[in-house]
Amino acid sequence: MKATLTVLGSGTSMGVPTIGCDCDVCHSSDPRDRRSRPSVMVEYDGNCVLIDTTPDFREQALRENIRKIDTVIYTHAHADHVLGLDDLRPLSHHRPNKIPLYAKPEHAAVIRSMFSYAFDAVYKFGGLPQVELKEMDGPVNLFGVTFEPVSVLHGDAEVWGFRFGSAAYLTDFSEIPERSIQRLQGLDIVFLDALRHKPHPTHSTVENSLKIAERLQAKRTFFTHICHDLPHEETNQNLPPQVQLAYDGLKLEFEL
Ligand SMILES: [Zn+2]
Ligand SMILES: [Zn+2]
Ligand SMILES: [Zn+2]
Repeated sequence: MKATLTVLGSGTSMGVPTIGCDCDVCHSSDPRDRRSRPSVMVEYDGNCVLIDTTPDFREQALRENIRKIDTVIYTHAHADHVLGLDDLRPLSHHRPNKIPLYAKPEHAAVIRSMFSYAFDAVYKFGGLPQVELKEMDGPVNLFGVTFEPVSVLHGDAEVWGFRFGSAAYLTDFSEIPERSIQRLQGLDIVFLDALRHKPHPTHSTVENSLKIAERLQAKRTFFTHICHDLPHEETNQNLPPQVQLAYDGLKLEFEL
């Protein structure tokens, strides 16, 4: 089955430009240097699966003219991946059921407490996102396609990336355990965390992710969760042709 993946956001937690920053990348005129918080959308067979709801989800949805979201799956519960949940509101009305939100049980608990007004409140005037949290502790079948969680280390937390068909999306990690590397063979497309060149305790670097890309041998590798240390054009010129920085609005066709 043919599918389309759209990069809604390719930036790190603070986004690029970063508030108050005077660096060249934050003031670049290249639109690919404008990076909203990290998320992708996968469309197939008339369905739309969103991975994470960032604080920039509203702008991303307007930019991409999103008219419906059928399901959301969460990689983890950090603010830059969940804070746009309330902006599902207009997309959650006029549908027969609530939008299901899938998350690992411990992440679902954090999301429930962050958005307790939406999940627990009895509010008779409307105005709440019509969403339903579903705990997910293994692969889920969404509209005939398996989304398989791939466990990765994000500092000392175990969070998820996802594999779906010939693609995988691994947005926040500092290390990919060996057993997960085995789950990521034979891919056409893989997204890898590559924050910057300088080491970081919870994120991968360009150099580390190049080594991972070399091991995975996917046909195409895209780096994401990028901070303002990496100018798009210049960084790409120093990467092998099959490895590139992702950018907001990038669309890829692939086989599920
Ligand atoms: Zn993040
Ligand atoms: Zn900057
Ligand atoms: Zn994170």
